[in-house]
Amino acid sequence: MINMMIGFFKDYFKYKEAAKKQQKWMEKFCEQKGYAINPSWMMATNLKSNLCEMEATFGKRYCPCFEPSGDKALDKKMMCPCEYIEDEIEEYGTCHCALFGPADLSKEQWKASSKRLMEEYQVPKNLKNGVLDTRGMPLDPRRGLPVPDMMHQVKAVLNGYKGDTLTVIVEREQEALNLEKIAAYRGYDCTWEQKDDHIKAQLVLKP
Ligand code: SF4
Repeated sequence: MINMMIGFFKDYFKYKEAAKKQQKWMEKFCEQKGYAINPSWMMATNLKSNLCEMEATFGKRYCPCFEPSGDKALDKKMMCPCEYIEDEIEEYGTCHCALFGPADLSKEQWKASSKRLMEEYQVPKNLKNGVLDTRGMPLDPRRGLPVPDMMHQVKAVLNGYKGDTLTVIVEREQEALNLEKIAAYRGYDCTWEQKDDHIKAQLVLKP
């Protein structure tokens, strides 16, 4: 929990200025659609920081909850605000990431959807002796992508990680390519090799 909070405040200060730009389009979008932004300062701030990081890492404003899939059509649908928003409001009360919901959503409904989201991401990670196996997570039914995906698992593990290297096992080449971009953005070295049924990537965290 402490590591999570440290990560949150680091990102808050890093993206404080860039997040103002996110706030502007979000307010305009909500006004047009009759939506509201999550009233929890921590939730909204975290999601705005994540949007900034997605733009800085991958060059586009992808959904903060899903790394790019490599499928152009799907990735286009996942640009925030995504194409799933209305459907997910029907199901969860808010969009998947609990960033947007109807303007008249009650406090309890915002809380319930935020709790659902946190539970999806705070699952035990398969980390042993410096090897993180990111495979086997459940798939989001709309996007067909894992939750939590490789990116969120790696980020969660790196919060407070003490090792010099981290080996990351992924299933698809796109995940290895995404990991390369994440590593480049964070200043880590990243190499990977295709094995029979998986890809083994290595992050060098300290020179
Ligand atoms: S789920 Fe919410 S935060 Fe994610 S892209 Fe869709 S609208 Fe944006």
